[in-house]
Amino acid sequence: MLKYNYKQASFYTTVADLNSLPQESIKEIAIVGRSNSGKSSLLNTLTNQNRLAFTSKTPGRTQHINFFNISNDPGLFLVDLPGYGYAKVPMKVRSNWVLLLADYLQTRKPLIGLIIIMDARHPLKDLDYTMLNFFAPTNKPVHIVLSKADKLNQSEKVKCLQLVRSELAKSGFTNHTLQLFSSLKRFGIEELENTLNSWLNKS
Ligand code: GDP
Repeated sequence: MLKYNYKQASFYTTVADLNSLPQESIKEIAIVGRSNSGKSSLLNTLTNQNRLAFTSKTPGRTQHINFFNISNDPGLFLVDLPGYGYAKVPMKVRSNWVLLLADYLQTRKPLIGLIIIMDARHPLKDLDYTMLNFFAPTNKPVHIVLSKADKLNQSEKVKCLQLVRSELAKSGFTNHTLQLFSSLKRFGIEELENTLNSWLNKS
């Protein structure tokens, strides 16, 4: 299996609407999560660069889609989608973001898989289910990353994994994997890389 170098990810482009998505893309892996779920920290940890996900936090740019090139391979991208559920944003704007996410997730051809980040202390919020529901019809894989796992003790970690697994099974979701992750303690990086590698190798 080919191993990609995520430490070599570099910022590629930012787009504000779906008509501007890069046409040169061959494979994309998208990353979503509620605002404050730890998405920027995860991207920074994965790519070992402190400023990479900074763009997504620039005021006025939070709605944009950021593309990061993987391994200097021209066709491969990590796609940082706008965080959802941001309380300070008016409802109307928030619902537009959700529609944009739905459109991208359901129609984007190069997209090969979706990473959903959830705070391990508050997983499976309504909008997380909304994303799962949008994506399910594509039959493409979902990897759930339970972030900030350093905040849980050992038994809470086990419980968290069990809870998310059983809730998803109850709701009929099958095509997913899940893991614990901490940017702070830097654990779960290899597991995440393995998932990304397996997707990139398969498709
Ligand atoms: P985003 O809004 O989803 O991009 O989230 P950020 O990456 O900006 O993180 C939101 C907050 O969670 C910040 O205060 C981070 O310091 C904190 N955070 C992110 N990752 C971790 C982690 O692994 N452990 C802990 N304890 N806090 C984290």
